[in-house]
Parts: sequence; structure tokens; C-alpha cells
Amino acid sequence: MIKRQKIFITGRVQGVGFRPAVYRIAQVLGLCGFVYNDTKGVTIELQGEEEKIVEFLTRLQSGTDKPPLAQIESCSAVDIPLVDGEDGFVIETSNSQGTALSQVTADIATCRDCLAEMADKKDFRFRYPFINCTNCGPRYSIVETIPYDRPNTTMSVFKMCSRCAAQYTDVTDRRFHAQPVACAACGPKIWLTDSKGKKIETGTEAVIAKTAGLLRSGRVVAIKGIGGFHLAADALNNEAVERLRQRKRRDHKPFAMMADSIEKIKQYAVVSESAQKLLKSPQSPIVLLPKKRDCTIAHSVASGVDAFGFMLCYAPLDYLLFKQGLEVLVMTSGNISDEPLICKNEKALVTLGSVADAFLMHDREIYRQVDDSIVHFVEHQPVLLRRARGYVPTPILMEKTCREDIFAAGADLKNTFCLGKQNQLICSEHIGDLEDADVYHHYISSIEHLRGLFEVEPKVVVCDLHPGYLSTRYALSLAGSRVIQVQHHWAHIASVLAEHGLGGPVIGLVCDGTGYGTDGAIWGCECMFASLEKFERFGHFAYYDLAGADKASKEAIRPVLGLLKEAYGDDFELRKFGWLLERIEPDANRQRIISEQIEKRINTVETSSLGRVFDAAAAMLGLGGYNHFEAQLPMALEAAIADGAEEHYNFELAGRADEPLQLDSRKMIKELVADIKDGQAAGLISAKFHNTLAAALLEMAKAARQSSKLNTAVLSGGVFCNRYLTNRLVNLLKKSDFTVLFNSEFPANDGGISLGQAAIAAHAAARDSSYET
Ligand SMILES: [Zn+2]
Ligand SMILES: [Zn+2]
Repeated sequence: MIKRQKIFITGRVQGVGFRPAVYRIAQVLGLCGFVYNDTKGVTIELQGEEEKIVEFLTRLQSGTDKPPLAQIESCSAVDIPLVDGEDGFVIETSNSQGTALSQVTADIATCRDCLAEMADKKDFRFRYPFINCTNCGPRYSIVETIPYDRPNTTMSVFKMCSRCAAQYTDVTDRRFHAQPVACAACGPKIWLTDSKGKKIETGTEAVIAKTAGLLRSGRVVAIKGIGGFHLAADALNNEAVERLRQRKRRDHKPFAMMADSIEKIKQYAVVSESAQKLLKSPQSPIVLLPKKRDCTIAHSVASGVDAFGFMLCYAPLDYLLFKQGLEVLVMTSGNISDEPLICKNEKALVTLGSVADAFLMHDREIYRQVDDSIVHFVEHQPVLLRRARGYVPTPILMEKTCREDIFAAGADLKNTFCLGKQNQLICSEHIGDLEDADVYHHYISSIEHLRGLFEVEPKVVVCDLHPGYLSTRYALSLAGSRVIQVQHHWAHIASVLAEHGLGGPVIGLVCDGTGYGTDGAIWGCECMFASLEKFERFGHFAYYDLAGADKASKEAIRPVLGLLKEAYGDDFELRKFGWLLERIEPDANRQRIISEQIEKRINTVETSSLGRVFDAAAAMLGLGGYNHFEAQLPMALEAAIADGAEEHYNFELAGRADEPLQLDSRKMIKELVADIKDGQAAGLISAKFHNTLAAALLEMAKAARQSSKLNTAVLSGGVFCNRYLTNRLVNLLKKSDFTVLFNSEFPANDGGISLGQAAIAAHAAARDSSYET
């Protein structure tokens, strides 16, 4: 029987070669009709034999016909009247309204088909370092403006040769409308310069061979990739890695590494089934993997932590380089210290000239710098720690459609910002710490760019409550917008709600470094009833005094003294604790000054920060006195945990009826100090410390459930980047019949704040009835 159906498909179906796939299947099956993109997804009208239409739907949704990058969320079909005189199947131009949002997709690792062609002597892209197709290659990083067409990308300067053009215009070809399509005859080229920018090699083969040779001999080479420059060095050569560390002015922070096969990575790290899948995914992130003991990776790659960050090659150039017999490379961001990633050739030479011995350059301009994303596993689920290449700008889809555009400014550390338009929340890539002037400048220009790219004109602006945040000040300076200020930890919980498409209310458990509280104190370990509508603080870690706000997150002596004074009260005397303090701050005079500062409350704040409690515990255990990079001490504390220890310290939950419940940690601190004095093993003490917090948070959640009858516990905040604590707490909560939710596509750290802010703003705007469903 001949039928005509109208089919709606939603999900990731735009910018992924979906319409050509629809076209091809319709052609093969002899169906008539058309396909077009619209604001919600893809619409298809099909006419033909009923069983052919059924087969069409099956083939589109599964098997080899489905475009590899497509993700179908829903597919519905309705019968409609037959149409006479239709001539075959056509791709119609998009029903343009709003498609700007979905046509720019993320940068994707080189696909298997392209790798096969690159290795095929008979293919005209044999060993071409920029091979790509509709299913892979750069996207977001090369788009200057919309619509996403070649003239609006940095590929506009390359005129396609006839062979590339033929593929680009052939709807049955894998490269149909693949904007960065190119070959050796018409596309970008690579060359090698010395540290001053003087060309020392040209021609693909000579450049690849020379670069590999330099790396093998221990040199540092800056390599221009997809989202920016990498600084590369032989990861098995400690001298080379040390040299890179020194020149990059990065004393301690672990370096990420790249290899060209899972088998190689397995020699150095434990790779689970799910980790393997993630390493090989189109997003190709850095995955944190447990180190193997006694492996030959240079010591200085990642000392003081228990995991290596590995990624697989993801650009064609990476594969060509590794084919020269390279084993494992350090591949760290091409920047100095915490400045923005460098993506321009000239800037690289100026800034990295003293870091790299040579530069592997190319002439495909990177318009947006995008860092490598970082993922780890919580409860066997992948969780993003840094969301950038491969994931941005994939939006979060909301049920409701905004009539007003939203700008969410994010937090000052690990900044991202978020734009809300129609039913989408689009989070920027990881921007960085705004206190660095260059990063702040990058933040402002990125906002301008993405607003233009997605045609966002914010009427609602949302930012943190912290009056001193640069992001807050920027948001408040935007004239003509309604501004909403959102408490930091509420935004953390809201980010999880947004990810899971929920509105709340839930029991929120936030374990974090610092966030400005509604009472002016610095919050950091909070239990709240939270929805996208509002939040109410139910409990928190009992306040302790922290001296010198700016330095407190670096110098562990500050929280140590604050917590000891809180725990011992009038019994606290510096001389009694000399044995403990001298390993944290050897200068007795400084100990005295900070101690007096706390006593007299000069430049101190009250805080419930849990991040600082981790710093203090690590420092008292002798794991260091200073965070050279964020969370260095907490990571060392986690790495020290002894397996199998189930004990915990004592703690109390207390509070008057009219105020939030307090997690009183004084017993824990005293017992921990006693354990150190008794010479207990650091691994056991660290385990007991972590176990105490998990147990205390469980009790807090139970009390919250008792009082509210809510049963969903939502976990967020930077401290939940700690795998041990998160796994343990999630297990405890589940055993007590809680439904547990945590971040996965967005970081639990401050990189997720902007999403939470935007979700709250979207909800508020909906309540103000300026929304439609
Ligand atoms: Zn490809
Ligand atoms: Zn070509």
C-alpha cells in the first residue's frame, strides 16, 4: 500500500551529515519526499510502499546507515495525505529560523574511514595531515560566523580543487558539505621552524621525520593541532620532561600524554572497558587512568597523584608523527603557566620561543582555541573534569522554550559561561581562571564571539553572588539587562538538575572549595533543599576562621591553624603543636603571626570550606604545605589512601532548631592529630578522614530526608572530583535507599557553575511567564 508519512526526529541530528544519510536511504529504497532542518531537529516527508517506509526508519536508526555522530532522541511518524507529481527525494534548504543554534558542532577525532584512506597509497589523500570528512575533523574551532559554510570558516582561504569539490557537492559522498574538506593539492600544509621562526623543513614527509627525530632526542616541540598548540616531549625521558616543566613554569601540575594505541597505554596505566571506549570516542578526551606500578613513564610527568592523563591521537598529524616510532609523548597545552592556550602562529613564536626548540606549524587558522577535555570515572561512569574540545558547543536541551535570551557569567575559577536561547543552554569551553589578565581578556572576547555565533541577545543576565568576582562585576556592568545573582552552591546543584532535566526539589550536598554565602561567610560544605526555583540551607560544616583570604587556598598553614584553634579552643597553644606545625610552616614567626591574626580576627573570614579542610589534613600528614596548583594537597591525600580501611573518626551533627544543622568536626580533628602523634600510617589516617566525611554527609542527608521527605540526593562541588569520597558517599546513600545524582557531562567543579546559573535563570524567566511551552 502506498502511504505518506511525516516524520519528526530530535536529538543530535544537525551538522552531523544526517540529511545526506536520509537522502541516501530514501534513494536506495525508491521513496519520494523531502527532508529539512528546523529549530527542533529534522523533519522528513516520505511517500512510497508502506514496508519501504518501515525499512527506512529501521535503517536510519540503526546499523551502518545511521551517521556515526548522530544521536536520535525521539522519532515520531504520522500518516498524512498523499501528494501527486513528486519527482524523487530532495534535501530542502533549512527552515532557517533558529538553525544557527544547531549547525555548529564540536571538533571530532579523525574517523576510521579517513585513517584508512590516509594509509592507502592509492588514495589522493595518502599521508595528508588534514584529511577529514562529514564524520570527523575540526568544526567549532574553525567557525568565524554563521551560517556554517566554508566561506565563514578559516578554510575560506583555500580554494577547493576539482577532486575535493566533486566530493563536496556529491550528496552520496562521505564528504558532502564537509566544510573543511581539503587535500594536499588544495588544502593546508605543514612546515617546521626553529625557535625563532626560521623555516627548517617543508614538505610533509621531511617535516614529520625531522619532528620525530627532535622528540626522540629529548627536544621540546610545539605542535599546532586542532584547538591550539601542544607542547610535546618524550614522556619516557625525564630530562626532556623536566626541561619542559622548567621552561613552561609549571612546577608540579601533572602533564597529559598521548599515545597511538590502547595497547601502548595499557603498558603504563590500567584501562577499563569503559575507559577504552571513551579513549576511542569521537570526542577523544584525556582520560585519567590508574597508574601501573613501576612503569617507565618519566617520574616528573605526574608525581604526587595516582593517575595518568592519557589521550589517543585525534588529529591525522598525530598519527603520522607516531608512525615514526614514537612511544608516548607528553602533550600539554601550549601556554605559559595558566595563561590562555595559544592558537596563532605568530603568538606561539613570541610566547613559546623560549619553551620550544622547534615549531611544527600549519596554515589552517584556529579561530577558537579549545583545550583538550579531561574525563575521569565515578562509579564506573565517565565524568567530565574539563569540558572543551569534542564536547563544546553541544547544548543541553530544555523542555521549555525561552522567549528571552540568557547570559550566565559563571565563576571566576575554571570559568565557563553559558548562553540560553530558545530551548537550548550552550556552555562555552573551559576558559580558565579570570584573575589572569589575559584569561579575563579572552573571557570577554569569547562572550562577544559566541553571542554572535549563536545570535544571542541576552535580556536576562545571571552571575554569582560574590561581589568581588570579576565575572560578577562584568555581568553587573551590562546595561539594559535584568540581572539575577545566584548563590554559588545552589548553582552547583542546579547544574546537576539541568543535566538530568529536572526541576527539583532535591537534597543537595555540596562539597567545595569556596563560594560566597548569603550570610557573607565563605561557604563550602553545604546541605540544602534546592530546586531551580529556590534553595534553603539545611546544614553545613561548622564554621572555622580562615586567615588571609587570598593566600588561604595556597598556604595550608592557614586552615590548619584555623581548624586546630576551633578544635582545641582555649587549650590551643602554638608550642604544644610545634611538632606538627613545623613540617607545614617551618618559620615559627609566620606561625605566630597567622595564629594572632586568627585570634584577633584581622583579615579573617568564617568558612565552611571543605577544600581547605582537605588541604589541612594533607598538610598535617606531611604531604606538603602548599598548593602549587589547585587541589594539589587534596589529590596527594587521596593518592595516599590505604585500601580496605573502613574505620572513621567521630563527628557530631548539632544545631538549634532555628538554625542550620552543623557538622561539628572537632572530634575528627583531635583524633586525627592523635593518630599522627601515635605514628599511625598516613594511608590509614587518610582513609579514616575520607570515611568520616562520607559518613557525616550521609547522616546529614538522612536528617534532611527526615525533615523534608525528599529522597533524591544530588552531589556537586569541586571536592567531588575526589573519586574515593564520591564513590564511597554514593554507595552509602544508595544503601540507604536514596536516589543519587551527580554531574557527568559537566564538571562538578566551578566549570559547571554557568550551566546551573543559566538553568536557574531560565526557570525564573519561565515563572515570570515570558516563556512558552
Ligand atoms: Zn573522517
Ligand atoms: Zn583538494
